[in-house]
Amino acid sequence: MFKKILIANRGEIALRVIVACRELGIRTVAVYSEADEHSLHVRFADEDVCIGPARSSDSYLNVPAIISAAEITGADAIHPGYGFLSESSYLAEVCEACHIRFIGPDPNVIKLMGDKARARRAMKKAGVPMLPGSDGPVESDEKALKWARDIGYPVIIKAVAGGGGRGMRVVRTPAEMANALRTAQREAEAAFGVGDVYVEKYLENPRHIEFQVLGDHHGNLVHLGERECSIQRRHQKILEESPSTALSDKVRRKMGSLVADAAKAVQYTNAGTFEFLMDHEGKFYFMEVNTRLQVEHPVTEMVTGIDIVKEQIRIAAGERLSFKQSEVTFTGHAIECRVNAEDPETFSPSPGVIHGFSIPGGPGTRVDTFAHAECTVSPYYDSLLAKVITHGRDRQEAIARMRRTLEMTVIEGIKTTVPMHLRILAEADFVAGRLGTAFMDRFAAKPKPGSLAEAV
Ligand code: ADP
Repeated sequence: MFKKILIANRGEIALRVIVACRELGIRTVAVYSEADEHSLHVRFADEDVCIGPARSSDSYLNVPAIISAAEITGADAIHPGYGFLSESSYLAEVCEACHIRFIGPDPNVIKLMGDKARARRAMKKAGVPMLPGSDGPVESDEKALKWARDIGYPVIIKAVAGGGGRGMRVVRTPAEMANALRTAQREAEAAFGVGDVYVEKYLENPRHIEFQVLGDHHGNLVHLGERECSIQRRHQKILEESPSTALSDKVRRKMGSLVADAAKAVQYTNAGTFEFLMDHEGKFYFMEVNTRLQVEHPVTEMVTGIDIVKEQIRIAAGERLSFKQSEVTFTGHAIECRVNAEDPETFSPSPGVIHGFSIPGGPGTRVDTFAHAECTVSPYYDSLLAKVITHGRDRQEAIARMRRTLEMTVIEGIKTTVPMHLRILAEADFVAGRLGTAFMDRFAAKPKPGSLAEAV
């Protein structure tokens, strides 16, 4: 087993990895930017190294600085968390060359899945159902128009290197194509440094359903069931749950084994997530594979009792999975609300100093956060402040627990999305489990109280 793990991340996920390491008796090294000097992940790691200025490109994305920190401290592995370098095959390769274990899949698998067009081809070959689309990048308006004509409108243009909902444009008529193609290419180039995009059939209000897998280096691979992440804003998840209200045990077993077979076909190791869209007839279509820990992994942990981060570490250390597929059981229902430091009406970031801070615990409640009273929420990074996760015997109990937890939450000094979550939890469609990726549109359409539109 590793003696010391460097965590190449910040915020709640750096703390989450520290939690797993402490329970496993592994020492930890925090890396931090100048803006994060007083963060909890720095306080609770056994050692810490400043890796540069606030800007991510100078610190959390700075591979030489991170590798040097690992070498100076004698860390034998690096956990990348999510975001930042978590899907960087380059970091994984450099780790390999420096004899530091990268806690994630093999660099070639990261590379394959990081190119969504290639990933589509590989998954198609493995027998995974697919939405019709161009199986490679499209460069010109003519090619994009031809694909759209063949597939049928609406279509969606997506970045080959995509992530975080960026570089995507829905096209409903040929007239919109040229503009959408250029915007998507520009956005992709700016966000990922690669402007390549591909075309895919666009589904109206589908469900986002994803399967968690864990694979060791001895040929064992299991799935841990699904998460439903249909509650999204601008293609970004805001509330997730497990199990999905749309899956029967039979479908879960069938999809789970299909995913496990596909993962084995590409020799997938460590933790990974296979994302799908599900249409109104219950048909699944592959979307992408995320070769890392997901923000929403706690809902799976709550229903399976499996600590996914500990498993990642054990797998990377060469251990065998300690359980078989038949030993994975699902108990109750779990929901996660992502509490962001944002204005709940406009969604603009709300950085600043938190004065009062209390999120109550209680039965079936878990809070993953870096926040505390008098801490500063930095404007430099992602606005995720806290993940509130509740577990209940059934979905209604999980919802009731989430409501009372959020109603009793106190976060003063900055704005948060807690009120937005309470609105979602109160919607009849949410309570009934009638979900889809267009769910949040209803809020955008509603006039604000006191606005002219409402008065009229
Ligand atoms: P990213 O990697 O940027 O997160 P994804 O491919 O995972 O991008 O897609 C994110 C979200 O975008 C999905 O959950 C879904 O809401 C929407 N989306 C992507 N592709 C389609 C599609 N073909 N039809 C409808 N919605 C889509």
